[in-house]
Amino acid sequence: PVAGKQDFIRQIVREDLAQGRHKTPRTRFPPEPNGYLHIGHAKAICLNFGVAAEFGGVCNLRFDDTNPAKEDPEYVQAIQDDVRWLGFDWAELRHASDYFEVLYLAAEKLVRQGDAFVCDLSAEQVREYRGGLTTPGRNSPFRDRSVNENLDLLRRMRAGEFADGARTLRAKIDMASGNINMRDPALYRIKKVAHQNTGDAWPIYPMYDFAHSLSDAVEGITHSLCTLEFEDHRPLYDWCVDKVGLANSPELLQPLLDRGLPNQAAKPRQIEFSRLNINYTVMSKRKLVAMVGDGLVDGWDDPRMPTLQGLRRRGYTPASLRLLVDRVGISKQNSTIDFSVLEGCLRDDLDAHAPRRMAVIDPLKFVLTNLPEGHRETLSFANHPKDESLGTREVPFSRELWIEREDFAEVPPKGWKRLVPGGDVRLRGAGIVRCDEVIKNEAGEIVELRGTLDPESRPDMEGANRKVKGTIHWVSARDAIAAEIRLYDRLFAVADPDDESEGKTYRDHLNPDSRSIARGWVEPAAAAAAPETSFQFERLGYFVADRRDHRSDAPVFNRSVTLRDTWSQ
Ligand code: ATP
Ligand code: MG
Ligand code: MG
Repeated sequence: PVAGKQDFIRQIVREDLAQGRHKTPRTRFPPEPNGYLHIGHAKAICLNFGVAAEFGGVCNLRFDDTNPAKEDPEYVQAIQDDVRWLGFDWAELRHASDYFEVLYLAAEKLVRQGDAFVCDLSAEQVREYRGGLTTPGRNSPFRDRSVNENLDLLRRMRAGEFADGARTLRAKIDMASGNINMRDPALYRIKKVAHQNTGDAWPIYPMYDFAHSLSDAVEGITHSLCTLEFEDHRPLYDWCVDKVGLANSPELLQPLLDRGLPNQAAKPRQIEFSRLNINYTVMSKRKLVAMVGDGLVDGWDDPRMPTLQGLRRRGYTPASLRLLVDRVGISKQNSTIDFSVLEGCLRDDLDAHAPRRMAVIDPLKFVLTNLPEGHRETLSFANHPKDESLGTREVPFSRELWIEREDFAEVPPKGWKRLVPGGDVRLRGAGIVRCDEVIKNEAGEIVELRGTLDPESRPDMEGANRKVKGTIHWVSARDAIAAEIRLYDRLFAVADPDDESEGKTYRDHLNPDSRSIARGWVEPAAAAAAPETSFQFERLGYFVADRRDHRSDAPVFNRSVTLRDTWSQ
């Protein structure tokens, strides 16, 4: 057990185990394969897999694939990759569709018990009969069909005899219930759409509440953790589990045993927690699908996307996302987390673990005239200021350097600490230099600086202790590798992109400056890195070698996060 995690769900699990209700917990993460996972899902993944691991239990990955029209095998694969990338592995990979036969037998059982009926009302009529928050619903005129008639109709639904939407199978509960979910909710609908897992085998598909509760029961899930919007569904969840009584009806599970799928058939308990919300992002899959489909971003793994694929490509590490989930915690309180909290988690992880490198994003040539032409040496730099175990690297140094254009000011503002004409500055790890000459082109733009290196100020020399105001980074011009540096910022310019007041939509809130491309230079030890390696580029921020486009001879780096929070100032 991990010390320190004391949220209410872990308290419940701890208590259940102490009372002997279960030997170990079984949980599941149940995504619908209708899009890529986003940062919100990371919370559910860390919770479900985390609870299982901490208490010696197991967690399944279950695709909640009961809505074939929007589902796709591409998503099924990506979701598995993302869960593994976050650092988790499942006990069993299941699909709700693995249980279609079991669910169907369960539906027949409900019919035989008089707990379900086939209804011929149209979708619109069903809505009309359902009533509202303050008005009770009315019974469907088909509610009192005989068991035999219901069974016959259900079987004919299953055989594909009726058109889409012509009939539904409904639970017979209570049209006067204060909870609208309990007003004879649909359990099955007719939908002649091919399914990504079962193909054309089924013309009817189970509804979410029926499929989800029974899938949990089939797998012996002990704690079914879900987000708060399902709180009102819990009575229906319990109703389905209790009325079907899988644990006492082994015959219903026969289709699974025939397919060699083990089952646990226990009574699961649903517990709700609050969703993760983060400002400056949208998390609805509908909107994410549209943004990708309409080309508002460059695909699901665009580094500005809140998808796990996007965050990964941006340079977010699995550890930083797990840290976020820990910092946010688990409760029933709805809240919106500031984007800077997410960025802070990445900074904290990378500050501790990312090697340091030097890169110049907006280069200005600086020639040290007192070094001989062709002068070249290698300096040894620590990879990390606080972690010796990360070792050292060789950094080439020569007569011609690239420095950052913004580290020079011809007319310095007040308090300026960097380079000025005639002034001194320390070159990180190399020595103290003075700027002697500013070279301009015909348009009056500065194209080069010339200066001298103080030979008494080299590393480890007495003269290196001389006081100068600023230290700047640099790369050796003859050794540096030209790099594409992608500077990313928040995808949305406003804190609440879902705000639709004044006739706007999230599309109107996109940040037009969320990406720019710079052509810079990086030291050889940065270029040589494998894709997905993260660095702190000194004084610039944290960058990652792009997962798809980076090559050692043509480096591409994405800015993951700036060194400091520049938004909340
Ligand atoms: P959307 O509404 O955007 O389609 P969803 O909740 O329907 O998302 P699912 O694929 O069904 O997406 O989600 C799988 C699991 O992840 C569910 O248990 C769901 O509660 C959980 N989940 C989804 N979004 C969040 C979030 N923002 N915070 C925490 N858990 C989430
Ligand atoms: Mg869902
Ligand atoms: Mg949804």
